[in-house]
Amino acid sequence: MIIVLKPHTSEEEIQQVMEKVRQAGLTPHISTGAERTVIGAIGSDAPSKKEIFEALPMVEKVVLILKEYKLVSRDFKPQDTIVKVGDVEIGGDEVVVMAGPCAVENEKLLIQAALAVKAAGGRILRGGAFKPRTSPYSFQGLGVEGLKLLAKAREETGLPVVTELMDARDIDVVAKYSDMIQIGARNSQNFTLLKEVGMTNKPVLLKRGISGTIKELLMSAEYIRSEGNNQIVLCERGIRTYEDSTRNTFDLSAIPVVKSLSHLPIIADPSHALGKRDYVPAMALAAVAAGAHGLMIEVHVNPAEALCDGPQATYPHVFMELMKTCRRVAEAIGKKMPYVPIS
Ligand code: PEP
Ligand code: MN
Repeated sequence: MIIVLKPHTSEEEIQQVMEKVRQAGLTPHISTGAERTVIGAIGSDAPSKKEIFEALPMVEKVVLILKEYKLVSRDFKPQDTIVKVGDVEIGGDEVVVMAGPCAVENEKLLIQAALAVKAAGGRILRGGAFKPRTSPYSFQGLGVEGLKLLAKAREETGLPVVTELMDARDIDVVAKYSDMIQIGARNSQNFTLLKEVGMTNKPVLLKRGISGTIKELLMSAEYIRSEGNNQIVLCERGIRTYEDSTRNTFDLSAIPVVKSLSHLPIIADPSHALGKRDYVPAMALAAVAAGAHGLMIEVHVNPAEALCDGPQATYPHVFMELMKTCRRVAEAIGKKMPYVPIS
């Protein structure tokens, strides 16, 4: 349930309510809005405790959240959450583009891609060091060496980096070298891993599961949020359907649906959704028009030689043009994108 406090409730009174929640055997989660403080009281028998809190003088109202996901729901927090990755804010007026190669392959290719991403107005560099490959014989990523190269690319370009974490044993090293931790589609319901990233204070990019419903995505986000981490960005990256002319089926409708159900930002990854580079621009533009808070796009300077996901990798010059068009779409719906230099 959520306990909505009256405006101007003092810090001391807020602490009293938090303590009362604990005494009732529930876990308190605080959300401080511009006008009101709201305390989420989570526990399986929360509904039976509703009256205890209604009786408190500083409480305006107590509302039961009937959905299974609670802390990530709009009921708990009506205003949009802004997630900060370095200096970049995701969830506000700016459409934030994360781009880069599928995998970190070597220093030269990574830096070239990073410079191309930056030149086009991309704000965050992506690149996998630990790769979740379907075949154990495919390139698995450079591991820690790849993380170090990402940190180097950040130094050279100033772009913060996002990279995937697959195994909880690598959490410290991934957190050390990156600015945002990605949980990939295949680990979207790895609840142990979700809890681990929930205990860090690193922003998390949580992808929708390969066959995951929107509700399952939000339940996974709830796992992270319930451990204390409120810096979560959701990502629609296509779902598995009977359609086989694209790699996955891009569920554009997830964007407005998630935005109505949750206060967390949602971005779109048309590269993994479509799987073919020629289809990526159209769906990137559609996602921006639909209100996505950002995009994730795979960019490679030499896709023909890419060690992973070459067919879907966008060429830097195409990315540059796409960014310009994205900017026009963003502006048409009252959003912003950073200035893109004329090429
Ligand atoms: C990726 O971003 O490189 C990736 C593996 O994506 P997904 O988990 O969406 O398949
Ligand atoms: Mn990829």
